[in-house]
Amino acid sequence: MSAPVPLGLKKSFGFGDRLGLATPGHLAAVRQFPDFAPIFAQQSIREMTRTRRTPGEVMTAAQAALDAAGFTGAWGADGDHQKTAEDVVAVAGAGFCFFTIDPSAHVNNAADSLDEAALRAEVARQEAEGLYAGFGWRDYYLDRVFSVSTRFAPLRFDEESLLRAMVKYGRATAHAEMMGQAIAKASGGRGEIEVSVDETDSPTSPLEHLFFALELQRRGVPNLVSLAPRFVGEFEKGVDYRGDLAEFERLLHAHAAIARFTGPYKISIHSGSDKFSAYPVIGRVCGERLHVKTAGTSYLEALRVVARVKPGLFSAIAGYCRGRFDTDRASYHISATPARVAALPAFRGPSEEGVYLDELVGRQLLHVTFGSVLTLGADAQGRPFKEAILEVLNANAPLHAELLERHFVKHLSLLQAG
Ligand SMILES: [Zn+2]
Repeated sequence: MSAPVPLGLKKSFGFGDRLGLATPGHLAAVRQFPDFAPIFAQQSIREMTRTRRTPGEVMTAAQAALDAAGFTGAWGADGDHQKTAEDVVAVAGAGFCFFTIDPSAHVNNAADSLDEAALRAEVARQEAEGLYAGFGWRDYYLDRVFSVSTRFAPLRFDEESLLRAMVKYGRATAHAEMMGQAIAKASGGRGEIEVSVDETDSPTSPLEHLFFALELQRRGVPNLVSLAPRFVGEFEKGVDYRGDLAEFERLLHAHAAIARFTGPYKISIHSGSDKFSAYPVIGRVCGERLHVKTAGTSYLEALRVVARVKPGLFSAIAGYCRGRFDTDRASYHISATPARVAALPAFRGPSEEGVYLDELVGRQLLHVTFGSVLTLGADAQGRPFKEAILEVLNANAPLHAELLERHFVKHLSLLQAG
């Protein structure tokens, strides 16, 4: 059976597949872009919980499709957003070899607004807990000039910016160290590591990124191949980038330079689905040192198959999602609101496909409710939606693959266009 391998620093693209039937379409697209190493098995612990899938099921679905297609190239498997050592053991046991550490529970989002006394008090607490035991952090950070790129003035910490970075990310780097040890142990030293802080409240400044990366280095986090900062602007699920693209580009240059300087490692773009306006910039600035993750956008293409082939089923699902929206949107940062969802027309057929599957409010409605649809939702006869969706996809595999291929060729060519 086909098995995933570590992909090192090769430019890569992650295809999350919540239903386990998307790999043929993903493969058809990425075969046209040999510059990108594909990651065909990729699911976060949160998604596995929401879809009630095990790491083994996620892995087997990808492997079976790759074997059926006779694919013999290198591919990766990403256990995404792992928060505990137990998560690591579970995904390593299923053969995953790329581990994304999510230390966001240990990021202090209040750091941006604390006054100096509060910053000093928190750093004193971190020191008392041994976070910097035997390490002369003042000399190490304050007396140095970091010439990360000829494009910018060198970076340097002043006392305040250093204290703020320590308060915001110090505990997160210590957590990443613990996770790194768990990954090395669980994978027999083979596991590659990404560290992601993309799901935090405030953007990661270049100086904070530098601090974070130097701490990971000092703490000996092994096999670091990528890092996902929280970027400026909004990387909302399933829709294009929202924000100042020129500002994004300016800061991305700084992040990419820091990644080359302290690594090298790749810049990882999470919630990468459908960021079409930002893709040329991302491709150009990051070059070979790039990883992009997508997931929900493939689920939406699966629903597009349902909308075209079984409009009655899609209509029932859309109605169910409208009822779940208020509850299910809680853990997401999105622009769709209950009022905007209530204003959507009911789905009757092809004339409403765009409203639900191409426009922001409809896409986000379907995106945030995926867990409910795939575990709790059922049609009027009590048949689970998941069973009905899988039946449609299995009976219409060529259309499913064709829609996915077209969708990801668009993603990959825009990344390449930069
Ligand atoms: Zn993420």
